[in-house]
Amino acid sequence: MDRRLLLKLSAALALAPSVSRATPVSAPRVAVIGGGIVGCSIAYQLAKAGAAVTLLERNQIASQASHATFAWINATWAKQPQSYHHFNQLGLQHWHELGRELDIPITWGGSLEWFESEERQRRLEQDIDEQIEWGEPASILDAEQVIALEPALTLGPSTRAAYSAADGAVNPVEACQRLVESARGFGAQSHESVAVDDVRIDQATGNCLLLTSDGELPVDRYVIATGADPFAIEKLAAAEVPQRSTPGVIVVTKPVPPLLSRIVVAPGVHVHQRADGRIVLGEQDGVPANGSHATRLTARPTRFPNEAIANQHAERLMALARRFIQELEAVEVEEVIIGWRPLPLDGHPVLGSSRKRPQSYIAVMHSGVSLAPLVGKLVSVEIMTGRESPLLRDYRPDRDFTDSGRY
Ligand SMILES: Cc1cc2nc3c(=O)[nH]c(=O)nc-3n(C[C@H](O)[C@H](O)[C@H](O)COP(=O)(O)OP(=O)(O)OC[C@H]3O[C@@H](n4cnc5c(N)ncnc54)[C@H](O)[C@@H]3O)c2cc1C
Repeated sequence: MDRRLLLKLSAALALAPSVSRATPVSAPRVAVIGGGIVGCSIAYQLAKAGAAVTLLERNQIASQASHATFAWINATWAKQPQSYHHFNQLGLQHWHELGRELDIPITWGGSLEWFESEERQRRLEQDIDEQIEWGEPASILDAEQVIALEPALTLGPSTRAAYSAADGAVNPVEACQRLVESARGFGAQSHESVAVDDVRIDQATGNCLLLTSDGELPVDRYVIATGADPFAIEKLAAAEVPQRSTPGVIVVTKPVPPLLSRIVVAPGVHVHQRADGRIVLGEQDGVPANGSHATRLTARPTRFPNEAIANQHAERLMALARRFIQELEAVEVEEVIIGWRPLPLDGHPVLGSSRKRPQSYIAVMHSGVSLAPLVGKLVSVEIMTGRESPLLRDYRPDRDFTDSGRY
């Protein structure tokens, strides 16, 4: 889809009167299954648009990927092809709107990224040329310009970094909480520790009943925002969405006085500082590949087997980061977490109903932090109006999935 068409559609989306509470239609009963950032955003937009929303989360709100995420809001070079890149640019615009609407603190300082290998750095710079062509405010800075922006940073032996001025970062747990509170303000109900185990559809009437760990819930539509869960979509939507979910370690420090204003995407490690002073570190290359990790990871752990192993991983990331930010020497670690990326095989979001269960609406994606506000709006408009958004045409669940090898 070309950029001009996308921008027109996005303007139309911004102007489209989403169905308001005053609209004289009977409120559809919509369950949102999954209280991560994607489910919370969809629940908020649906409730605001007048649906009778029930949000069901089997653990706690923002306890899975939306807790263990680096939470960088971006439309970087990795977002390919151009149509998906623009989809992410719209994601950023919608974060600006949502941040203002719900008073969610977002660090909008841009990102600085570089590689140590000269060959890899050259490829990054070619990617940045493409980004500039695609309307991204990106540029290549020399070491002096980088230090002027981020005095606590050193590039090590490197001499140049890519600066993507539009990027931001958010505290995803706080954002989810704000979305749920605001959805409740529009009449939504939310329940933690309630799992949706199955769905029964009456073939004659089309009536739909969710079977939950807390009893049965009759609904008109249900959204499956279950993240990396490998079975939920098959069970609840009778559809197959191939995922190759990958793990990543996230380290969060205790709060410290302001040290960084931008997201630092350094060789081996990603770092940013939240508005609350906590520094967040994420690994660039995934967990180290060895036999014992491979065995442990088959059970998809979200915690380390013991504190000593958690500390080893924290120290591994802190050591990588201290090469570029020496002041991290004195910073104490508060939390070390393993996150599992919801990751459809081709790297793109999956959004829409399954053919066999038209009452369902699947909403699973990587870059769910970057995309949540946009996706929340688009999904709620589709559910409330029954009209398909051309912006979602490329992301339907019944497409052919080929492995993109990204993330
Ligand atoms: C290490 C790491 C780094 C990342 N970095 C970034 C980044 O920098 N920028 C970015 O945009 N994205 C990033 N991502 C991806 C992003 O975090 C995810 O795409 C996003 O959090 C997905 O949100 P979600 O709501 O779909 O999933 P989740 O947050 O996993 O929420 C799904 C929820 O569904 C619940 N659930 C599942 N099954 C059921 C059921 N049957 N009944 C009830 N509840 C159920 C789960 O308990 C869970 O809480 C990263 C992810 C990881 C792991």
